[in-house]
Amino acid sequence: MMPIKTFVSERRAANLLAQIRWRDGVYCPRCRAESVIRYGSYRVFQRYLCKNCDRTFNDQTSTVFEHSSVALRKWFLAVYTYIRFNTSLRQLDVEIDVSYKTIYRRVQRFLRALDAPRPQLEGPVEIDELYVKAGLKGRERDGRSRSRGLSTRGRGTYHDDKPPVFILVDRGSGDRYVIPAKSADESTIRLLLADRQQESLTVYTDGFRAYEPLEKDDTFEREYVVHGDGEYVDGDVHVNTCESHASLTRRWLSPHRGVSKDRLTPYLRAFQLRCEVFRKPGEKALETILETAL
Ligand SMILES: [Zn+2]
Repeated sequence: MMPIKTFVSERRAANLLAQIRWRDGVYCPRCRAESVIRYGSYRVFQRYLCKNCDRTFNDQTSTVFEHSSVALRKWFLAVYTYIRFNTSLRQLDVEIDVSYKTIYRRVQRFLRALDAPRPQLEGPVEIDELYVKAGLKGRERDGRSRSRGLSTRGRGTYHDDKPPVFILVDRGSGDRYVIPAKSADESTIRLLLADRQQESLTVYTDGFRAYEPLEKDDTFEREYVVHGDGEYVDGDVHVNTCESHASLTRRWLSPHRGVSKDRLTPYLRAFQLRCEVFRKPGEKALETILETAL
């Protein structure tokens, strides 16, 4: 259930912020010293004095929520509904009664603070790519009339406005990762598969040639299906889980259609986070969402 109480009480929201932000103990955001003492309050937030650099700070200092005249509980509601339900920011402006521009800036700031996913692979791993037609939204228009992406065919590159997005499904751990890249080449693929627990990682791919070098490498066991030959499943060898995850990714991006390629990363991190909290109850989901950005 939605953590409604946190969205109506500023004190509750402030307590949750403090609890998550200082989960490893309170420290000074400026000099990192842990020798701090409580020092009154700032609005609903606890204030502290750093005994090392002699400066004060509060629970909100140096977080993505600082310097805002909008109540913290409203920002919690905004990021919660955005991650959980992919709520459009236009809709949010009506719900929390804050201007679209203010919401857009703060949500972007929140998204930029999200950590990049770091796959720790157990294997076997399915890997596949999808190509997003990037538009120019959020970017200076360059005078061309077509701003919603190009109609090029085949595999794309970041350079021609069709950036590749890799989907990794770790069948061992059940984790899924959505990671944008500049191009779909060997070095990118090696980097994505670098952190693993097995000495030899089994990798399932399609027939795309960028995966071929993995075959000559003893640290990989590559098996593949060739879609062009009408072959989609060969026992365990398939990338179907990647493909269904790719369609969820497209659906996530569709309300933000035309988003420019240099803004794609934050939107995909939001999707990654959404998948992580998908099965969690409201309270726990909100905590996870905040932990990722604080
Ligand atoms: Zn300090």
